[in-house]
Amino acid sequence: MAVIINDTCITCDACLQNCPVEAIVDDSDNPTGNPRYYVQPEKCVECVGIFDDPQCAAICPSIGCITWDMPFTKEFDGYFLNEEIYKLGTSKDGKVKSPAYKEKKFREDIPLARRGIGENVQVEPQESEVG
Ligand code: SF4
Ligand code: SF4
Repeated sequence: MAVIINDTCITCDACLQNCPVEAIVDDSDNPTGNPRYYVQPEKCVECVGIFDDPQCAAICPSIGCITWDMPFTKEFDGYFLNEEIYKLGTSKDGKVKSPAYKEKKFREDIPLARRGIGENVQVEPQESEVG
């Protein structure tokens, strides 16, 4: 996936408007049924090659709402297929768009140790930068 939205989402719509690849759906279209916005892992590219950082997290007013998830690569095919928190789309020929079907770009500078543990994508400003 790349990034994932948790239950602190206030459904403000900012991330959906900011995603360059239309990877985000709103709460009414969330395929998991959860009442929050949802990043489709089979579409998210972590904004690689488009922006310097994930734009959804950069604009999200709920700090900590969008966190790093595992890369959408073959290595994590089972992870994305078996977790209830994802509902992957299907292609026209009926194949599930799992990582084994089509891998997505991800930020290689974000190590695995920081992924899948709820670590914020959005960086809070340092006090020195604020004042
Ligand atoms: S990281 Fe980028 S591509 Fe992925 S959902 Fe956020 S804005 Fe879209
Ligand atoms: S910007 Fe943040 S709070 Fe707003 S809809 Fe997206 S994830 Fe939810």
